[in-house]
Amino acid sequence: MTSYVECVPREEALELLEQAQALLRGHFLLSSGLHSPEYFQCARLLEWPQVAEKIARAIAQAVRPWEPQVVLTPAVGGIIIGYELARQLGVRNIFAERPSGVFELRRGFELTPGERVLLAENVITTGGSVLEVARLAEQHGASVVGFATIVDRSGGTFAPPAPVAAYLRTSAITYAPDACPLCQQNIEIVKPGSRKIRTK
Ligand SMILES: [Zn+2]
Repeated sequence: MTSYVECVPREEALELLEQAQALLRGHFLLSSGLHSPEYFQCARLLEWPQVAEKIARAIAQAVRPWEPQVVLTPAVGGIIIGYELARQLGVRNIFAERPSGVFELRRGFELTPGERVLLAENVITTGGSVLEVARLAEQHGASVVGFATIVDRSGGTFAPPAPVAAYLRTSAITYAPDACPLCQQNIEIVKPGSRKIRTK
């Protein structure tokens, strides 16, 4: 069973997200390939370093007992929150990227066997990216002590064998592309974020 930690009261998290205009409404193509009427644009939250610091402080408090030695994030989305978390925890910060479709450690980044790794991410919907990076860490012999995210919108379907700390836990409304009511209304779809999207 995955244990979940909510870093702040839900109302406080939602208020901050709305203030920063980080919660968008429309018709979005998520990096998972699913469609959604809402999108968390966490880059807007992190636009202000003071806000990033505040969010990371709440998350750091939750994950400190896990005694991470390094924060590892999928690029690009997780990099800023990963950096700020690592800064507050007083540990290293590295990121994985996928120039050819598969996540790898580049730029001389390394993990040592047994090193205690905290995975960090902006938004988790399916958790596909962060789980792939977790497997990468394990391939390097490191030990994944937990996951940290600003928004866990998986509605509980993201259930890894390590604990999950989220600034906000919520349930995303998602549609498969062939069953999306917004597509059926011919509402133009927007592709936010950074991952290249495969056409269906
Ligand atoms: Zn759609």
